[in-house]
Amino acid sequence: MQDLASRRRSFMRKCLATLAGLALALAGCSSTASFAAGSTQYPKNIIILFADGATSTQWDFGRYSSKVLRQQSFVTTDVLFKEGALGLLSTSPSNAYVVDSAASASAMSTGYKVENFVVSVTPDGKSVVTAMEAAKARGKRIGLVTTATVYDATPAAFSLHAKTREDNQVLVDQYLALEPDVLLGGGADYFLPEGVPGGKRKGGKDVIAAFRAKGYQVARNTAELKGASGPKLLGLFADEDMDLELDRDPAREPTTAEMAMAALSALSRNNPNGFVLLVENENTDTAGHHNDAASLMRALWAFDDAVKIAIEFQRRNPDTLLIVTGDHETGGFSPTYAAKDLGSLSRKNRFYTGDEHVRMLGRITLSLNRVHEKLGRKPSGEALDQLLAGHFPGFTLDSDLRELILKQRTAERSFSYLTHNALGRMVARQTGYYWGTSGHTTEPAVVGAIGPGAELFRGYQDNTDFGKHLHRLITGK
Ligand SMILES: [Zn+2]
Repeated sequence: MQDLASRRRSFMRKCLATLAGLALALAGCSSTASFAAGSTQYPKNIIILFADGATSTQWDFGRYSSKVLRQQSFVTTDVLFKEGALGLLSTSPSNAYVVDSAASASAMSTGYKVENFVVSVTPDGKSVVTAMEAAKARGKRIGLVTTATVYDATPAAFSLHAKTREDNQVLVDQYLALEPDVLLGGGADYFLPEGVPGGKRKGGKDVIAAFRAKGYQVARNTAELKGASGPKLLGLFADEDMDLELDRDPAREPTTAEMAMAALSALSRNNPNGFVLLVENENTDTAGHHNDAASLMRALWAFDDAVKIAIEFQRRNPDTLLIVTGDHETGGFSPTYAAKDLGSLSRKNRFYTGDEHVRMLGRITLSLNRVHEKLGRKPSGEALDQLLAGHFPGFTLDSDLRELILKQRTAERSFSYLTHNALGRMVARQTGYYWGTSGHTTEPAVVGAIGPGAELFRGYQDNTDFGKHLHRLITGK
């Protein structure tokens, strides 16, 4: 087990090195026309598209799966990474080697290292200026969009401060004080008081009503988002996180692209000072934690659809800097080759993951998280078999994995989502989409940028450098 796992890790590292080399070579020989075309090095608008938990292996999987299953190009890699400036970011927080989303987003937002789970507060207790605070101080409009709760680590660290990312109510109160022009995502629970359906706030305050009183339009479903026309917009589409793509009800929850479009339209109207917009897809991280390759694939596509919208906006508004990035890698994602069964380790008994295997992923119709929710903490074998037969055509569950699920045990200390991770291994054994952990890894984050200031992000840098560049570009200093 250990040996196989470490072989997988070293395979993954080799893949990363190859990809990184290739990417840098591409960046090195690509034109900087879009940079030169800007009238100034300082952009009027900045759009940051952020796929949580996605680095080079995930980006390449998006490219490959889009080509095979959607017959379309993946614009993140095929347009933005190829035409723009490309770089890598080291990600460590101030107190570890492996980072969490709060510490990584804090570094990228402020330019300072913080400890894991902390939201833009340095180890000596200072609240350091976030990218959105800097933008607001310059008279720019600001927007935050996510598929997670709006108070989740990434949007919070780009705008607010807390000693722990779990201070949900405090973070929501800070949003009300900051007044981002656009705030879209899940997390209605900490806007609504206990006693109201879905509400979890202590103290009885209705923060949705408080936003309305400040002149915000409020959208609670897709139709209301599409009908919104004002310059200030609060959209809360789920009590907690929004759903993974496979489980999403399109009438209730908009896509990442639909949210990006609404945000761009609200922020760009009559706005001489420009804006800073963060659009995050959190499902790329969630699917990684669950070791759910089918959900990861669809999250990457949903993210890429939002990148398309942003690239079109950037082409029409060349004074806009468009950045596509993530914060860390999630899951030790490792598409690889493997033995078909344990009968023989000879090459004849081996398969290399390819088109037929990604097609198997494409036929899965339920997220591993929804399987877990349906089975509950005491799964029955019958319910498990029914769900697999109905939603995972062509897959068979080996007896060792079945036992792990029914007994709710983990095979390894680095796997903490019992049902999800065992089913993730089922999918891996038949498709080659293996995972090394259910946590984060230290693979450098990838950053691609087009537009004025993009050149700053080229090369191998630290995630705090990303934050410093951002502040320079926002403040013009
Ligand atoms: Zn994560």
